[in-house]
Amino acid sequence: MNQFLSRRTFILIPTMSILKIIFKPMQVFASSLASKEEWNLSKDEWKSRLSQESYYILREEGTERAFSSQLNKEKRKGVFHCAGCDLPLFLSDNKFDSGTGWPSFWDSIQGSVATKVDFKLIVPRTEYHCSRCGGHQGHVFNDGPLPTGKRYCNNGLALRFVPD
Ligand SMILES: [Zn+2]
Repeated sequence: MNQFLSRRTFILIPTMSILKIIFKPMQVFASSLASKEEWNLSKDEWKSRLSQESYYILREEGTERAFSSQLNKEKRKGVFHCAGCDLPLFLSDNKFDSGTGWPSFWDSIQGSVATKVDFKLIVPRTEYHCSRCGGHQGHVFNDGPLPTGKRYCNNGLALRFVPD
């Protein structure tokens, strides 16, 4: 009995603390729903605007293969826009090499993204999407560099880079 209890506690405690770190209360929005009426497009309208790959990421919350995006290595100065509606989301000044294989940023342009929690990998993660067209961009984690401590892990296929 004692042995059983201690084993249980051993497993439970680290799991609970990990969940507590990840599962911080955040604003909950329905992803893929546009906040602006003119961006509430039908599936077919989105399919005609986007490549098949970008549609999968932006409209079906897909994830591209790590290290597959050219934007991962993009080091020029400029602005990263939503590939769905062209809203500016990230500045090159806030980009960093996270080593994960996805374009990573420690901050987003104010008001450009909204978040919700998803359970696709069972463990809750904070999904974020374009605040205008609702297109899924990536996930945000609390292990990024200072000053924010955030890591926006973004799909390159969901972005369009505009150099200065
Ligand atoms: Zn957008």
